[in-house]
Amino acid sequence: MKRQKKIFLACIVTFSIFFMELFGGILFGSVSLIADSYHVIMDVIALFTSYLALRMVLKPNWRADYSFGYHRLEVLAALFNGGTLSVTIFLIIQESIDRLLHPEPIEAGMIIIIAAIGLVANLISAKFLGEAKHNHNHDHNYASITEGSTEGISDKSCADAPLICPTDACSDEDVNIKSAYLHVLGDALSSVLVIVGAIIIFFTEITWIDPLLAFGIAAILFKGTYSVLKESLAAIMSKSPVDMGKVQKFLEQIPKVTNVHDLHIWRLCSRVAMLSAHVKLNTENLDSAEQIIEKIEAQLASQFNIQHVTIQLETPGTPVKACNICHD
Ligand SMILES: [Zn+2]
Ligand SMILES: [Zn+2]
Ligand SMILES: [Zn+2]
Ligand SMILES: [Zn+2]
Repeated sequence: MKRQKKIFLACIVTFSIFFMELFGGILFGSVSLIADSYHVIMDVIALFTSYLALRMVLKPNWRADYSFGYHRLEVLAALFNGGTLSVTIFLIIQESIDRLLHPEPIEAGMIIIIAAIGLVANLISAKFLGEAKHNHNHDHNYASITEGSTEGISDKSCADAPLICPTDACSDEDVNIKSAYLHVLGDALSSVLVIVGAIIIFFTEITWIDPLLAFGIAAILFKGTYSVLKESLAAIMSKSPVDMGKVQKFLEQIPKVTNVHDLHIWRLCSRVAMLSAHVKLNTENLDSAEQIIEKIEAQLASQFNIQHVTIQLETPGTPVKACNICHD
């Protein structure tokens, strides 16, 4: 089976779990099952949008005006997910408080059956994703992940392939799919929680266990939402992914470099980091300047994982007006 087809099947299976758990939760009075269903649908949306974003990022036909490619789509998708999840968490907590204050009868037997089906379906979709994860062809072609047309982005040079996430296309295992796979396995655990809770309710009739479990699921969701929002907001605000001071020190200890200023480091998406800086040299010799640039680029990539570097060189004779920002 093709990799894309497996991911698609995982989406279909997970989507069915969502409907089953949502309507089951409403019909048989379980908030924890409803909370679990929201969790499931958010996972599908996250998986699907990151998959779409990845496909678009690697698209061969670029709109020339989007010189940064479509990398920021990943950040937008994450921000959208974080926003919807925040609303969901609020709704779950509101509903749980309501159930604690005004308990309603729960048909625990039905909840056990639905959560058990959800658990099995979850494991099946984890299996699809697990296979998709291992199925990646290891030819390390920059465009291999698209499985489609590769014209225009198979070359590694900057000009031909505008800012392709290198690790996305080149790593042995696709990071996105791997984390989604681990996540679906984690979700299976929360289904187990719902089942255990329903079994206790079935025998003891203590119904407040159900909203209590819903609080627990809301807490798990909050943890994920918080880090998603934090990271995507940092990316949108162009926060540096590495210690600026360390990079500054590293650049200034390179021989012939006398000063580094107007240093900017930012993240385009979760995998591409960029840097621009003014570097002042104590030489007017252009040959040695090229060597210095090469060294800087190689070291920034290996030590700080910064792949896209733009350096403005200045010599002792650089006139003041050539660098307005820095010398005023
Ligand atoms: Zn990217
Ligand atoms: Zn999840
Ligand atoms: Zn600046
Ligand atoms: Zn300058």
